[in-house]
Amino acid sequence: MADARISADLTDQVAIVTGASRGIGKAIALRLAESGAKVACVARSADKLAETVSEVESAGGVAAAYPCDVADTDAATKLVEQVAEEWGRVDVMVNNAGITRDTLLPRMSDEDWDTVIATNLRSVFAFSRAAAGVMMRAKRGRIINISSTSGLRGNEAQANYSASKAGVIGFTRTVARELASKRRAITVNAICPGFIATDMTDALKKAAGEEAVTERIKAVVPLQREGQPQEIADAVVFLASDSAAYITGQVLTIDGGMTC
Ligand code: NDP
Repeated sequence: MADARISADLTDQVAIVTGASRGIGKAIALRLAESGAKVACVARSADKLAETVSEVESAGGVAAAYPCDVADTDAATKLVEQVAEEWGRVDVMVNNAGITRDTLLPRMSDEDWDTVIATNLRSVFAFSRAAAGVMMRAKRGRIINISSTSGLRGNEAQANYSASKAGVIGFTRTVARELASKRRAITVNAICPGFIATDMTDALKKAAGEEAVTERIKAVVPLQREGQPQEIADAVVFLASDSAAYITGQVLTIDGGMTC
């Protein structure tokens, strides 16, 4: 993989990144911090969040851990208010936390459905609602939601996950329209990653076998490899930057050509 680097100046800006304890969210937190933003790192595991914060600090950046279950709407709202109070602003809200509970429809329990929808979709609503309040007062902001190619075209055994990710896309387009105004520089966009190398896809490799997954990627991904978390993080940095000021309500698919 080429060393994917995009530079943006986010000095003095404050970003909140959910799911920053590992995988794509951690890469996003590191890249935003590298670009000058102070980053509030959100996830359930405090120890893993501390590792992200420590890596940001070792690289000369500023970050703090905010342990929270994103499915808890009240906690999400309070967290955004707390960050705004402690750091004085919220410029970038990245809704990245997500889970899978894959199983075929006949075997999918109410709990499988509700947990995935609450974690992947209701959290996006709660964090965006709270962040939008701060951004509207400041007349500027970026909301960036991590959806999935599963939300674009569905995926076997992922009725709950695909529905949550398709919901994120509808939510993104609607809120982009609601927050758009000549007087306010607020944009709302979504990213749909394809197959990205993280714990989430490691679980799939364990279940189906690494070789089978590698063969499948070669068969369905024109670029014939999985993506890296940094390749999603670079797109987030771009969407957070001034260069993306005229882009809103859009869905950027980053999947090596899988859905083209
Ligand atoms: P990982 O499983 O590696 O990481 C998920 C992150 O979300 C962790 O930081 C986890 O932290 C956090 N998280 C999960 N549930 C909660 C919760 N209830 N409250 C707070 N934080 C939570 O996943 P990826 O990095 O692969 O995925 C990141 C996003 O990208 C997800 O939305 C995923 O759906 C999406 N995506 C990923 C793809 C891929 O191929 N990897 C493809 C398409 C989309 P903790 O467990 O500490 O709470």
